[in-house]
Parts: sequence; C-alpha cells; structure tokens
Amino acid sequence: MPNFSYQIQSKLPNAATSIFAIMSGLANEQNALNLSQGFPNFPVSRELINLVTKAMNNGFNQYAPMTGIIELREVIADKFSSLYGINYNPETEVTITAGATQAIYSIISSFIQKDDEVIIFAPAYDCYDPAIKLNGGKTIEIELHAPEFDVDWNKVKESITDKTKMIIINTPHNPSGTVLSENDMKTLEKLVRGTNIIILSDEVYEHIIFDKIKHQSVALFKGLAERSFIVASFGKTFHATGWKMGYCLAPAELMAEFRKTHQFNVFSVNHPMQKALATYMKKPENYLGLPDFYQAKRDFFLNAIKDSNFSIIPSKGTYFQLLGYENISDENDVDFAVRLTKENKIASIPISVFYNNKIDKKVLRFCFSKNEDTLLRAADILCRI
Ligand code: PMP
Ligand code: GLN
Repeated sequence: MPNFSYQIQSKLPNAATSIFAIMSGLANEQNALNLSQGFPNFPVSRELINLVTKAMNNGFNQYAPMTGIIELREVIADKFSSLYGINYNPETEVTITAGATQAIYSIISSFIQKDDEVIIFAPAYDCYDPAIKLNGGKTIEIELHAPEFDVDWNKVKESITDKTKMIIINTPHNPSGTVLSENDMKTLEKLVRGTNIIILSDEVYEHIIFDKIKHQSVALFKGLAERSFIVASFGKTFHATGWKMGYCLAPAELMAEFRKTHQFNVFSVNHPMQKALATYMKKPENYLGLPDFYQAKRDFFLNAIKDSNFSIIPSKGTYFQLLGYENISDENDVDFAVRLTKENKIASIPISVFYNNKIDKKVLRFCFSKNEDTLLRAADILCRI
C-alpha cells in the first residue's frame, strides 16, 4: 500500500495488543504448550454440533431477530428461575449477544458518558477499561488484595462519588480464580442502595465453580438484581469459545436502553447456533455437570504439580490457576512468561497486564481447560522449573 501519513488522534493511545493474542501467537511460533489464552482443547459436544448442522440444513441461515430467538431467551429465563429463583421476562429482559465481550461493550456504551466514573477491580479482565475509555468515561481501579484477592469494601465506599455510574464485578474471577461470597454481595447491595449506580456483573464462569461453593449471582439479591446487567458466555459453558455467543439479562427498563445500542452494534447474532443452543440448553445436565467436570481437571493438574517449586492457592472457580514463582526467579512476570514460552515451551499469562499500573506480583495464570495428556505434559515441564 502507498504510505500515506495520516495524523491519527488515537482514542486509546496506550492500548497495546491484547496479552491473549500476544501469548497465543508466541506459543504457536515457539511450538509451546499453550496454557495462556483461556480455551478448551477438547471437542464441543457432538450433539450440539449436529444441532447446528441441522439448523443450517433446515434453513435458519438468515438474520435472527434483533434480540435473539425467543426459544433461546425462554430457556435462559427458565434457567434463572430454577437456579436463582428470579423471573426474567424473555421478551423484554434477555438479549442474545456475540459473546460476553459484545454484551459488555454495548452495556458500557449504552450508559457511560463523558466523565462518568466506573469502578472496576484489578486484576481486571482486559476489555472493561478500554470500553469505558472509548465512551469518554473514567476507570476507577480498586486493587484486590493478593493472595486471596478479596475486596476492600471500605475502599469501594470511599471511591463512590456522585459521578459513579457503574460498578463492574466478576465472579468467579478471571484471572485470580476467586469468588465473591454472600457477604460480599450483601455489602455491595448496601453500598449501592439509594444511588443511581448500575452493576455490570460478569458471570461468564457461573458454572465453573468448585468445592461445592454456591455461585453468588447478582440475581440472588433483590437490591442488586433491580439495577444489574448479568453477562454470560456460551463459549465458556459449552467449550466453544470460537463461536462468540453469549447473552445478557437486566430489568426491562435497562434492557430497552441496551437494545438501542445493540441493534446498531451487531443488530443480531448467529442464527443456526441460537437454534442449536435453545434445544441443547433444554437439558440442564448439559451445564449442571460443569463444576464436577472442571474440578476434576483442577485437581488432576494440581496433583501433578504438587512437588513443583511454584506456590499454589487452589482456584475456587474459572478454568484458571495462578502459580506464584517467587521461589524460582526475580524476573518480572512478563519477561518470565516469555522466557518460559521460549525456553521451556509452556505459555501462560502474566497477571501484571490486568492492572493499570502493571503491578508485578510474580504470578502467572495457567489455563487447565485441557485434556489430561496436555495437563500431564504441562506438569512435567512445570516440575522441572
Ligand atoms: N469476561 C471474562 C471474565 C472472560 O474471561 C471472558 C473470556 N471468555 C469474557 C468476558 C469474554 O467472553 P466471550 O468470549 O464470550 O466474549
Ligand atoms: N477470556 C479468555 C482469557 O481470559 C481470552 C479471551 C480473548 O482472547 N480475548 O484467557
């Protein structure tokens, strides 16, 4: 292409390429085991794939309705009613999205205006802050206390101002693998009472939670549910991250505002996959088995690395395990992760990238959503470091 030098006034001057693209790219280039970006390396259910094929063969290949097909919205509403005892109206309170990422972007875009403040908790999943900035908002980052990564609610209280428009929570939490407790949720409920604050609750790992811990959805707390968007991802729940399918729920008034943005953001999302998911989700066993399925993977991985030099606090949810390397190296986590990928042929995610000020806790994140052979090969490498 001819080189035309255009004066770009970047809206995201400090945004680097996402760490997931960088580490997966490096893993491929180095032929390393890729436990960095979070995706399963085992197949999607054959039944679900057959349902997609059937929907395509049956002609569901044109635009789906803007808000998603009603059968899928109904089965989602049924799930929330049976798991959390809350009734969302499938017509007005559920929307199907292109993954959780698009839901998150459209929610932020619908409500955040210039100089609005949004509270997030760091380490924070990487798509929140850029979406806030692109809409003129200001990110107020509150640090979670390592190694438990718990929330200092006094700090949250002090950080709420008359400009606070939204608080984003994420449980089970990526990257730390911790979860919010019932007490955390009740404290948050009390803090936002009488304010105009919207909660964006990122619950993409709602079914990936261990040791019989109960997932504390905002749906369980009246004072939260009435002001919350819940965001979910079929990619996480059905081992199909490449499908980029998700959904969100919110009270009708908030959802109506969201849909104004959503219709111009994507209009509607993949039709045959919605058909397939609607049928597949009618059997709750297709998602209720996930805690046991992933807990077995976590335990298998942790058992295989128990004699390694890494420090370990078992993940309580998500398919990520943090490993501390303070007994192994003084290098910063980005350099260490890159070196492990190049020299030891195992890729992970350095967690400093999830903080605005890039705090280095000497911790790496490993994805255990892998088959046993991969987990054993990973453990073998990690035990030799
Ligand atoms: N939120 C969190 C916490 C995540 O880990 C991810 C990655 N799956 C997303 C949102 C985005 O989900 P999706 O791939 O459905 O866009
Ligand atoms: N959610 C995935 C993770 O945390 C990555 C998604 C992405 O690549 N953007 O690893």
